[in-house]
Amino acid sequence: QEELFKKLIAHSKEYGFVFPSSEIYDGLSAVYDYGQNGVELKNNIRRYWWEAMTRLNENIVGIDAAIFMHPTTWVASGHVGAFNDPLIDNKDSKKRYRADVLIEEWMEKQREKIDKEVEKARKRFGDAFNEELFRQTNPRVVELSESITTVNHRMVEALEQNNLAEVKKIIEDCEIVCPISGTRNWTEVRQFNLMFETKLGSVSDEANTIYLRPETAQGIFVNYINVQKTGRMKIPFGIAQVGKAFRNEIVARQFIFRMREFEQMEMQYFVRPGEEMKWYEFWMEKRMRWHRAMGFGDSKYRFHKHEKLAHYANAASDIEFEFPFGFKEVEGIHSRTDFDLANHQKHSGKKLQYFDPDINQSYIPYVIETSIGLDRTFLLVLSAAYAEEKVAKEDGTSDERVVLRIPPALAPVKLAVFPLVKKDGLPEMARKIMDDLKFDFACQYEEKDTIGKRYRRHDAIGTPFCITVDHQTLDDETVTIRYRDTMEQERVPASRLREIMNDKVSL
Ligand code: ATP
Repeated sequence: QEELFKKLIAHSKEYGFVFPSSEIYDGLSAVYDYGQNGVELKNNIRRYWWEAMTRLNENIVGIDAAIFMHPTTWVASGHVGAFNDPLIDNKDSKKRYRADVLIEEWMEKQREKIDKEVEKARKRFGDAFNEELFRQTNPRVVELSESITTVNHRMVEALEQNNLAEVKKIIEDCEIVCPISGTRNWTEVRQFNLMFETKLGSVSDEANTIYLRPETAQGIFVNYINVQKTGRMKIPFGIAQVGKAFRNEIVARQFIFRMREFEQMEMQYFVRPGEEMKWYEFWMEKRMRWHRAMGFGDSKYRFHKHEKLAHYANAASDIEFEFPFGFKEVEGIHSRTDFDLANHQKHSGKKLQYFDPDINQSYIPYVIETSIGLDRTFLLVLSAAYAEEKVAKEDGTSDERVVLRIPPALAPVKLAVFPLVKKDGLPEMARKIMDDLKFDFACQYEEKDTIGKRYRRHDAIGTPFCITVDHQTLDDETVTIRYRDTMEQERVPASRLREIMNDKVSL
């Protein structure tokens, strides 16, 4: 799987999906650029999300707020005080780690030990094996799972109380060693704020310090009254937004999974207080359906319920996807209560209440939020789509191909048009067909190399349909359409292409 992930990163670069930022200067850590195919895929994912939110839901509208916001926004939202990661350094390797991540990785290792014990026993007992009973009674397994529960409990409490000495003590008690130096020579734990600061205007005094937004949500909260009034929205209603967010991540690795500059697609759904759990469940289910509609297989997704809640939430779950490096969060669904709006009301002095005509009452709405990373979804699509296959050749030997099985609706190029040869009027005919379709579909014209090579190139970027224009086309206006996934070829009238495409490129 590690190997697969490395190949995926290399493939992304080779085929113009993702480049390291400012690569000629050796890149910038955890910052990436999207190439010619990457930008198309990203736009298509964004559109899939945007339309699912704003078109399919009559009560959800979009906005596009600025990245810079009044600095008090981040005091009210709690980010100035609490958007921190607890950091620890190893004195020997001089490497810096997130203390909570070290502890979580330790717990994961304990879980793996349990799984090993379970597997060993399953082999030993065969059909008679009762896993549940084994987990409850085997002394080693019981001891391991109790240690996980205790450590988890201690960590949640320590972070909640901002008790950094206790976090350090947990690291010592678990005998966690630095993966680089192998020693337990740790510094104290300290809090590190993830927000990037910059200065507004030319006077560099404190008052001009502003932040690059670490989440897009606050742009929605501060505009909620504007949208509600001007759009005459009635609760429940939602506001959707896609935009950049910035976090000075410490553990910045895993390619575009964790970046310092990334894009979020967030939707805040404003509901009547007391009804938030109903809507929380509703959105969990609805968001899972959106993911599954991409067709990568339901078993690749799961929910993960948060025990440790962020400062603003009263319930939270993640949708996790099975990346090459394991199940990891792609989207969070959070019940944020009235935390944000109540605090903005307090700090701004402006009334952010809603008058609910159905019950004749004013209140600050509660909020359910769905928050998904665009870049992380991009990585999801790439890793689910990437496949290496053996292909039988006509002469009986076999060949290899790399194919990106991207859902046609999301593919960067929908249709590639090839003239069989560069003469006899075939290029002109091919261009004519393409000119007819290019307003509706992303098309690409290719005349270089053999048809076989052209197919491979388009397999590698996930083009679902390739059509070839040959001499017969000049006679009867039929073309060969070749399907990416099955590699089957079919002769069809050129006039039917639009209909075939329309049928296949919607999700
Ligand atoms: P994590 O636990 O992975 O740091 P988070 O719980 O802090 O993520 P949220 O604040 O809930 O994440 O953000 C919502 C979504 O934004 C995440 O599910 C993820 O898809 C995306 N996201 C968050 N941080 C990053 C990042 N540094 N790079 C890319 N995407 C991110």
